[in-house]
Amino acid sequence: MKETIKQELLRKDRSYVWHPFTQMKDYADRDHVLIEKAEGIYIYDADGRRFYDTVSSWWCNLHGHGHPRIKEAIRQQLDQFDHIMFSGLTHAPGIELAEQLVNITPAGLNKVFYSDNGSTAVEVAIKMSFQYWQQIGRTSKTKFVFLDGSYHGDTLGAVSVGGVQLYHSLFKPLLFHAHRMPAPDLRQARAVGPEGEREVAEAALVKVRELFGREADTLAGFIVEPMLQGAGGMIMTPAAYLQGLRELCTAHGVHLIADEVATGFGRTGKMFACEHAEISPDIMCLSKGLTAGIMPLSVTLCTDDIYDAFYDDYATQKTFFHGHSFTGNPVACAVALASLRLFEEERTLEQAQITIAALAEALGGIARLPHVADVRQLGLVAAFDLYEDAERRHPFPPERRIGAAMYEAGFEEGLILRPLGDTLYYWLPLCATPDDVRDIAARTERVLRRVL
Ligand code: PLP
Repeated sequence: MKETIKQELLRKDRSYVWHPFTQMKDYADRDHVLIEKAEGIYIYDADGRRFYDTVSSWWCNLHGHGHPRIKEAIRQQLDQFDHIMFSGLTHAPGIELAEQLVNITPAGLNKVFYSDNGSTAVEVAIKMSFQYWQQIGRTSKTKFVFLDGSYHGDTLGAVSVGGVQLYHSLFKPLLFHAHRMPAPDLRQARAVGPEGEREVAEAALVKVRELFGREADTLAGFIVEPMLQGAGGMIMTPAAYLQGLRELCTAHGVHLIADEVATGFGRTGKMFACEHAEISPDIMCLSKGLTAGIMPLSVTLCTDDIYDAFYDDYATQKTFFHGHSFTGNPVACAVALASLRLFEEERTLEQAQITIAALAEALGGIARLPHVADVRQLGLVAAFDLYEDAERRHPFPPERRIGAAMYEAGFEEGLILRPLGDTLYYWLPLCATPDDVRDIAARTERVLRRVL
């Protein structure tokens, strides 16, 4: 791109655009990366520089950017029809996708409600659970439970069940009350392997048992990010916790809501993170990878039991009065169907296992570097924490802004990184190869040397 055109675009960007999760004063002072092209795992800027998309464009992309089969699905759908409303009308992409999602998600999730992003999928889950209890006459069950460090989106319902102080505490006066529970964090395990996992799970489950013992009659649902709390700091949690939570929710009549907006569609090495614990939730939220990260779309799946509580004569006023303009967008549904076909044709999950093993090996090298602690991995997601003194877990002084420095240095080394505070992570697309992973790790090592 010509330098003059680039500079003019960047000037307009500063003049007119307010970017998400961005302190715009910092942004105004920086030179910016203007994207011109994206292909496979790579993103290219207007100067022709190439970067690894190590965070899959905010945890969305699966098969790489610009996949020809996805582009074809978009073209074909647009040739037939574009957006139409999904209330009172229906269409093949929406119907077929719903059937396939019911078939591939954990058993018992039989109904699919569409919306258009992760936060709205969570709003739907909360309202659906709340209304269910009202309609079956258990009207005291109105409260929700969430985990410390959880992130379920930025709309107000999702923020009410959010556990990240930095993003959520300011909005408290606008939120509904929900119970916060301690999150099981595998970094706290004193023993390696199943024994340590059981201990961490049990310490957190004790608190759930106490709460359910006291107040189950007031509780509608418990929302979790299964196996992996993303935005809260890439906190990995034991399968035993999810299994214990499933048992407690069933015993006390509380909906288990699995927010797989980020973990769904193979990112953790299995199609859905719930499969690591072999459990089925009552409600499941999916987005991001649903369309291979290409189009905005989300779904909230639920059991027949929940659906049936809404199914009645109109006069009984049990309708679920919820919907968005872009509910079930046909182009997005067609892309999601194309993505599911790719999973079969390209044996995506099988191929990913090879990359996951290569990632484990590469992380072994990173773990030996100074300042690095608590290297962890689940499938194609990996993270580690940076400390001034890693052995004593003594943090860097906040004014060093390690995360921001890593982000900047990443560009110099051809990496798009988005550290969470002093935690550096990868959230790799399923198309990443073992060579990509080794190259990304080597570049990361250089980033660490530049910054620390
Ligand atoms: N739930 C989880 C677990 C997420 O990680 C996110 C986003 O990162 C959301 C919900 C919100 O999704 P969206 O940003 O599409 O609203």
